[in-house]
Amino acid sequence: MPPHTRIESRSVDLLEHQGKEFFARYGLPVSPGFVALAPSEAREIAERLGYPVVVKAQVHIGGRGKAGGIKLARDEPEVVTATESILGMDIGGHTVGCVLIEEAAQIAAEYYASFTLDRSARRYLGILSARGGVEIEAVAESDPDSIAKVWVDPVEGLSEADARGWVAAARLDEMAADELVEVLLKLYLAFVEGDADLVEINPLILTPDGRVRVLDAKVTLDANSRFRHPEYEEYDATQPRDERESAAHTRGLQYVGLDGAVGVIANGAGLAMSTVDVVAQAGGSAANFLDIGGGADADTMAGALEVINNDPAVRAIFINIFGGIVKGEVVVEGILEALDRVAMRSPIVLRLDGTNAEQGRAMIAPRLSEMLMLADSMPAGAAKAVELAGAGL
Ligand code: GDP
Ligand code: MN
Repeated sequence: MPPHTRIESRSVDLLEHQGKEFFARYGLPVSPGFVALAPSEAREIAERLGYPVVVKAQVHIGGRGKAGGIKLARDEPEVVTATESILGMDIGGHTVGCVLIEEAAQIAAEYYASFTLDRSARRYLGILSARGGVEIEAVAESDPDSIAKVWVDPVEGLSEADARGWVAAARLDEMAADELVEVLLKLYLAFVEGDADLVEINPLILTPDGRVRVLDAKVTLDANSRFRHPEYEEYDATQPRDERESAAHTRGLQYVGLDGAVGVIANGAGLAMSTVDVVAQAGGSAANFLDIGGGADADTMAGALEVINNDPAVRAIFINIFGGIVKGEVVVEGILEALDRVAMRSPIVLRLDGTNAEQGRAMIAPRLSEMLMLADSMPAGAAKAVELAGAGL
């Protein structure tokens, strides 16, 4: 278990068609296509593009081909049938709300290309492979030699010579080298200037007449760069929402969803972050980061408990408060209010120190039970919560 948990604001994931629009702005060769919300619309678009077309499910998850979310359509009945069957389909828990209708490309070879950030190397990492169209993780496992990596210094950037050497190292078709180099330089530009955390093309294809085309697009934008990209706003409506986060944000709470089983509540971002770490050090993992803020009132605490209680993954709750402006008895008031308001599913461990902690602890004493316990210290509280989460309900 890592002692530190990364807590960062959610990144912006683009749907394939948004990713392709993003790529097109940087001159990358994407196939002509449009989004359809209904079979009739799909038919009109296909008429305009000319057959054959591909009908592609637009969801924030890969593996659509295998799931039946991508179909070739050679004529009008086929485009209607394909769209009917794909719309509303469930792919890995994502419901298909729209499809991309795209001019079908002919494929001679499928490659893979991506850029991400290699934090430990403090460089951008480019990955290129002649074995595209399948999951790159599987390729890395079965045929690691077919993967060529470049680490790019963000100040120096990717030069044409670098890109040429990279294409050669990946043993891509030499006849298409010029075009591939051009595409990789544009992909790099999109990655850097577009403030992306990830740009991935899988597959990047070669057509039978030797042209290079972007057939799929996976783009994750860095939400921290939003201030210089007003165009990001258009992506908000289609973001997969973490319902826990929406519920928390409406209540004015600083909340970030995580994957563990210990619900965490603390006052102040610093304390909340260390609480998440202490839970990890105790051998557990936090279900969330939640800061109720420096001046939280009883209602804020009750709201925080409600949000956490609604997370089915939570099996124990650790409330870690160091009273400053927030007074101990106000925190306890909030906890008692929450207990009256909602049926808590998980036991609560409370560590209460700082301003008026004594009063708070005295107030809560009559209500202590197997569902509500006091801990003497932060590590003891974390250990107890982890133990309870492990023990299950
Ligand atoms: P993913 O399964 O979610 O990664 O979706 P992709 O967009 O990568 O499509 C999956 C596969 O469908 C690709 O690897 C191609 O083999 C195939 N495919 C997608 N678009 C086309 C196309 O225009 N023409 C042809 N012939 N095959 C396509
Ligand atoms: Mn793909």
